[in-house]
Amino acid sequence: MSEFKRFRCRRADEAARLKHRETFLSAADFIWPVFLVEGKGIAQAVPAMPGVFRYSADTALKELGKLVPKGLRSVLLFGVPKKKGVEQAYRRDGIVQKAIGLIKKRFPAVEVISDVCICSYNPTGHCHIGDNDRTCAVLAEVALSHAAAGADCVAPSDMMDGRVFHIKKRLREHDLGRVRIMSYAAKFASGFYGPFRDAADCAPESGDRKSYQMDPANRDEAMEEIRADLDEGAESIIIKPALSYLDIICRAKQNFSRPVVAYNVSGEYAMVLALSGGLKKSAHLMEETLISIKRAGADRIISYFVPAVLEMLSEKK
Ligand SMILES: [Zn+2]
Repeated sequence: MSEFKRFRCRRADEAARLKHRETFLSAADFIWPVFLVEGKGIAQAVPAMPGVFRYSADTALKELGKLVPKGLRSVLLFGVPKKKGVEQAYRRDGIVQKAIGLIKKRFPAVEVISDVCICSYNPTGHCHIGDNDRTCAVLAEVALSHAAAGADCVAPSDMMDGRVFHIKKRLREHDLGRVRIMSYAAKFASGFYGPFRDAADCAPESGDRKSYQMDPANRDEAMEEIRADLDEGAESIIIKPALSYLDIICRAKQNFSRPVVAYNVSGEYAMVLALSGGLKKSAHLMEETLISIKRAGADRIISYFVPAVLEMLSEKK
């Protein structure tokens, strides 16, 4: 008998490596975030995030026409309005509301998830209107307008206390209790959101979001936040960002038998691109990054890499 264990035979060639691989990415793991603007025929590049665009509803549908055949199952919609004003966020003919209807009509099998927040509509750029409970009432209105437009799932990202409770109640009052809530239960006050704020035009005019988003140092509190959202009626929870919070993802999956979704945020995307020297050369780092998130315990991953990863997975078939 050998005096030491030989691992290298497991890595000798691709067949051996595949046989021993424990974690695989699949198209069903992914949720594609889409930034929507008003107008027609628009695909506006986001400078801080090469390969990411803001789409008008018609061009978003065109992109979906390419990605759905490659296995895309879920989208997460963000509205970037021309005109600021909190009331714009729950207009029945708003950008997001209209896009939800169009996507569900054309791609009924695609799960349409809508981001529920007011920061890109609010002139202050904050996710609240000053008071926690009044904000919850507004968020419930936003969620209701998305649900009424046909969203399968609403995703409150504001980190106000009690918003899942208020949204659930409002949806039930309108007989829309079947619409799922995927809450950003543990959203940290992170420096990795920079490029997103460019894309969604939602940088706070003054101050920061530390009075509502979580302190990156807190692990136990993240579990409390998750428990509270699940108790209030969320059916799945999001941890955001992903890479610096893999321990939170791991612990959430161990503690709660519920779907855990990780948000691979804009700064993480930009970081991988910067290190790889561009999107075209990023396949290796992209795959390693996404695998690490799944290995940590995420059931689903929201990522700007979705078009690239679907391309990679369809090439591997
Ligand atoms: Zn917000």
